[in-house]
Amino acid sequence: MSAALAMPSAVTRFAPSPNGPLHLGHAWAVIVAHDRAQADGGTFLLRIEDIDGARSRPELAAAFRADLAWLGLSWHEVLPQSQRVAHYRQAADALRAAGLLYPCRCTRAEIAAAATTQGPDGPIYPGTCRQHPVAPGPDVAWRLDMAKATALAGPLCWVDERRGEQRATPEMFGDVVLWRKDAPASYHLAATVDDAADGVSVVTRGIDLFRASHVHRLLQALLGLPVPRWHHHAVLIGPDGRKLAKRRDAPGLAERRLAGEDGVALAAALRAGLFDTGICLADTIDLLP
Ligand code: GLU
Repeated sequence: MSAALAMPSAVTRFAPSPNGPLHLGHAWAVIVAHDRAQADGGTFLLRIEDIDGARSRPELAAAFRADLAWLGLSWHEVLPQSQRVAHYRQAADALRAAGLLYPCRCTRAEIAAAATTQGPDGPIYPGTCRQHPVAPGPDVAWRLDMAKATALAGPLCWVDERRGEQRATPEMFGDVVLWRKDAPASYHLAATVDDAADGVSVVTRGIDLFRASHVHRLLQALLGLPVPRWHHHAVLIGPDGRKLAKRRDAPGLAERRLAGEDGVALAAALRAGLFDTGICLADTIDLLP
């Protein structure tokens, strides 16, 4: 194969939110992302997703780095989300200028009461503030007009390395919030802008976030961003069949690290598919949270 046709090596990332300690499920996710980059001589990035100031605990980011080093991993750290708000604002401004965002003052309770359909993230927004526009202000959220956005973008596809070619169907989310009133950009906007800014070429994350990629693919089209590939990996579930969570299941990585457990041996066990008792991998999109 000529050099010009060779696939560039992958840039992957692990993007934890510092609102709770890392647990075994994160260890699995970070190893997948790390090893996917290593497999073709690529680059593995760590990005701290501290966009939600009220829920973020800065001391956890230091613990995350210690956990990753304990697992025997190395990484390159990129800017945390709290330092990228200006980028998100620019992206939101561009979408607003294109007439694709509208202000919304509805509360969760009002939405729950008026909604008639469920989407992947809860009730689909019933469109109240699209049909009856409200004045913009500092205390409004900004929603994407999904019908307008999908019409403008036209048909879109994306590729998951494990599940193949996908037709983007972001309309299943309805008019998602892209700019929040209680925090800056939403997860969808921030993660999409960041992955492009960081040069991520293979977005690795759990299968439970598979559907979010439909929205991210649409945002890439609207914002003229490069389109990566995706690698949605299986996630660890506990004996109750639900996605592993620190509060319900095993001790966190920091606890195990501080108790003197060998992190490199733990990473080797995970790579070999040996999980703690009662824990196994689930590869279905509809996981119980
Ligand atoms: N910050 C997100 C989380 O911790 C990461 C999602 C992603 O990888 O896109 O769930």
